[in-house]
Amino acid sequence: MNNQISTQWNPGFPVTNTGFLRISASQVGVDEKKACNDFISLKSRPAAKIGEGYMQLRYPPFESFPLGIVRDALLSVINNEKVIHEFEDIEQLSIDSITEAITKNRGKVEKSHKLWAIDALTGYLKAWEKAREEDLLKQIDFTDLEVIQAFDSSGDSYTEWFAWGIYLTSHDGKIREFRALKFSKAGLTILNPVRAGVIARILADGVPHSEPSWSSPRDPIYNVLQPPQLIRIRELGALDASQAVVLSESVENARKLFEEKSLPVVTERIKGGNQNVGPNCRSCRANTMCPTLPNRPGLLGITAYAAWPKAYSPSKFHTYRRCPRQYFLQDELGLRAKQESSNSAQQRGLLVHAWLEEAHKRVKTCAIHDLPSKSKLGQIAENLGWNKDEAEIALPYLAQHQITCPINSSSKVATEISIEVLDTDADVTISTRPDILFKNGVDLVWRETKTVSSIKDLEQDIYFNIYPQLPLAIRLMVEDCLPKNVLEEFGEFKNKRVELELISPEECKTYIWNCEDEQVQLFAWSQLAEQVDTWASDTLFTPSTNPPCNWCKVSQWCEFANAEQVKADIGGLQVDLKTGEIIENSGIPLISNDDRVAKALGLSASLAEVSENDDDIPF
Ligand code: SF4
Ligand code: SF4
Ligand SMILES: [Zn+2]
Repeated sequence: MNNQISTQWNPGFPVTNTGFLRISASQVGVDEKKACNDFISLKSRPAAKIGEGYMQLRYPPFESFPLGIVRDALLSVINNEKVIHEFEDIEQLSIDSITEAITKNRGKVEKSHKLWAIDALTGYLKAWEKAREEDLLKQIDFTDLEVIQAFDSSGDSYTEWFAWGIYLTSHDGKIREFRALKFSKAGLTILNPVRAGVIARILADGVPHSEPSWSSPRDPIYNVLQPPQLIRIRELGALDASQAVVLSESVENARKLFEEKSLPVVTERIKGGNQNVGPNCRSCRANTMCPTLPNRPGLLGITAYAAWPKAYSPSKFHTYRRCPRQYFLQDELGLRAKQESSNSAQQRGLLVHAWLEEAHKRVKTCAIHDLPSKSKLGQIAENLGWNKDEAEIALPYLAQHQITCPINSSSKVATEISIEVLDTDADVTISTRPDILFKNGVDLVWRETKTVSSIKDLEQDIYFNIYPQLPLAIRLMVEDCLPKNVLEEFGEFKNKRVELELISPEECKTYIWNCEDEQVQLFAWSQLAEQVDTWASDTLFTPSTNPPCNWCKVSQWCEFANAEQVKADIGGLQVDLKTGEIIENSGIPLISNDDRVAKALGLSASLAEVSENDDDIPF
C-alpha cells in the first residue's frame, strides 16, 4: 500500500528547504474550525527551513505539557512489565514512577505538576485495570508493543505517520490497540475521523523504527511483527478513570477509513496556502512572517520581552487577577480538573451571551416576542436547546437588552470572531473574541456585554480597570487588527468605537468610547500596559492576598490552598469570593475615584468570568 502525499507545499511564508513529511494524527486531525493549514504543514516537515527573520522560539523554565510526565512514567511501568500483571498498589506505583520520571525529565517540574501527575497516572492505571477486566472476559490479553509508525516512500518523497499514545498487541498478534491519553470523558466525545483514520492506518501497517534526532527521517524496521487482523482505538481518561473502545475495525476497513476520511483532508492541509489564527500562533515558527497574523510591535505598550513567549487574553488576565497561582497552574502548566463548577454570575453571563449571539446572527432587532415567556421558550432559546430554568435565569437581562438592542436589518453583524495579534516587542500573542462587531451606517462598533446584579453610578473610565477587554479592544481597533475578511464584508466605515453594554435585571446602560479620540487612545494604552506588565514579567506567581481557594478548580494540587477564606476585604470593601458580588452592607459608598472600588469591582468582574479551557493534546 502506498499513499504518498504530494510534496507540493505553498505556505504563505518563504521556505528554503522542505525535507520529508512526519505527520501526526492529532495535528492533522484538529477540527476544521481550529485548523491552520500553514501551521500543520510546517509542523509536519521537521527538516524544513523557513526564511530569515523569524523570532527564535523561547521556552519556559518548567515542563509545560502536563501529560508528558504521565506518559513517560506509564511507559516505564509498562517496560518493567508491571502493567501486564495486576497492579498491587496503584497509588504507590504512581508515586514511585512519577518521581522517577521527574528525575529523568530535563525541564523543571513544579510541585503542583507532580501532584497532578500522580493523580492522573493513578486514574489512568485504574482505567487500565477496567480495560483489562473487560478484555479478559472476551479472552483478549494484551502485551506491550513497541512504538510503531507507518511509512510511505516513492521517488524522492518520504512520509512517516505517527500518533502519540501507547501501543499494545494481543498475545497471538491478531489484535493491535492504540491507547489514547485523554484528560477525562473517554468515549464521550466524537472521535475525529481524520485522526482516527491515521491511527487506524498506523495500527494496520505500522512497524518499529530507528530513533534519530527529531529533524532526521526514521528508518522502518520491517518483518519483525506479525501482521494484525483487527485494530482498535481505546481512550483512557486520566482524571476520571474512564475508558472505552472507540473504534474496532478489520485491517482492510482501517486502510479504507484512512484512504477515504484521512488522506483527502491531510493532503489539503499539508499543502498549506491558507492560515487560520488561533492558539497555535504562539508557538508557530512562522508567526513573524505570516500574512494573516498581524504583527504589531509595541501594541501592549510594555517595554521588555515577556519572561517566555506568553499568550495574553482578557480571560487569562481575569484568572490572573483572581489569583496569579491559579493562572499559573491552569494556563501555564495546563493542569486540567475533572469538575467544572460555575457560580451564578458565570452561569447567567454564559446564557445571556449565547442568546444574544444567536439573536444577533439573524441581523434583526431583538423583539419582545423573541424572548422566552411562561408558555414558550421562543425560537432562539429552542435553537440553543435551553430548558425552562435556563430561560428563567436569562429572561430579566434579555428583557432589558431588548429595549435598546442596537441591531437592525440594515446592520452588518459579525459574531464568533477570533482576533489574534503578535506584539513582537513583548513576544506575546494576544487573543480575544469580541462579543459582537457590527456596522450601523458609517459606524464600526465593537461591543462588549456584561451582566451585573446592579449598575453602580460610576465614572465611565473606571470600566477600563474593571473589564480589561475594553482597553484591549480600543488598542486593537486603533491598530487595525480586525480580521481582513470581516472588514471586507463590512465595507467602508468612518468612525470606530468601543461600547460596553451593562445589563442588570432593572436597566441596561451603554457606555461609548470613540477610538478616534486621542485622549481615549492614550488612556486605553496606558491602562492596558499597566494590566499586562506585571503578568508578562511574573515568574513567581505568588498567590493573591484574597485567593478564592474554596472554589478553585486546581486547589487539590496547590500547596498554598487556604479553604477558610470565603470573602476578600479590600480596605473595608468586601467581595464574596464565590459569587463575585460586592457585599453591599459593608458601609462604604461606591465612588469611582476610590482606588478600593476599582480593585473590588475588578475582582468581582474576574470572579464572574469563565476561564477558557482548551483540551487539545498538542501531538
Ligand atoms: S502564525 Fe498562526 S495563522 Fe500564521 S501560520 Fe502560524 S499558526 Fe497559522
Ligand atoms: S488554591 Fe487558592 S492559592 Fe492555590 S491556586 Fe487556587 S486560589 Fe490560588
Ligand atoms: Zn439585540
